[in-house]
Amino acid sequence: MVLPGYPKDMREFRQQFTTHEACQEYLVQCRWPEGFVCPKYSSQKARFKLSAVVFECQECGRQTSPTAGTIMHGSHIPIQEWFWAAYLVTTHTPGISVLQLHRQLGIGGYQHAWHVLHRLRKRMVHDTRSRLSGLVEADETFIGGLIKGKRGRGVVASYNKNLVVGAVELN
Ligand SMILES: [Zn+2]
Repeated sequence: MVLPGYPKDMREFRQQFTTHEACQEYLVQCRWPEGFVCPKYSSQKARFKLSAVVFECQECGRQTSPTAGTIMHGSHIPIQEWFWAAYLVTTHTPGISVLQLHRQLGIGGYQHAWHVLHRLRKRMVHDTRSRLSGLVEADETFIGGLIKGKRGRGVVASYNKNLVVGAVELN
């Protein structure tokens, strides 16, 4: 099984994903590293119909899009743009804001960027994640704008503050 390499920096990203087709190809390799498998009866006899951008199973005739079941499916946003957004969101520390993403992508409006970021964030959470167990340490802090005369723990939640809670398993 050979999974395609993940670009290690912006330069590699630019070289690797120059076209819509290159993105599609990468997606196909990630999803079916050993060749396309029809989701219906697990048949491997399929051909790629370039005109419709789908795999067509030669046994049951079912057509499967490379984006089926992904956040990109049914989206009017081009796949290349999704790739850009995913790269920015996963490499930006700390997390990227909607406004930053909007500015970086330079396409579509604020709503557009919000939609992309929202979908990406949702999928970045592991569905099967388990609850923390054993010895757990938790702490909280407020991040956001300054409040006159208050510092550190004395700061209380206000309109320009967000409460951030973190917890880790110690064992
Ligand atoms: Zn089939």
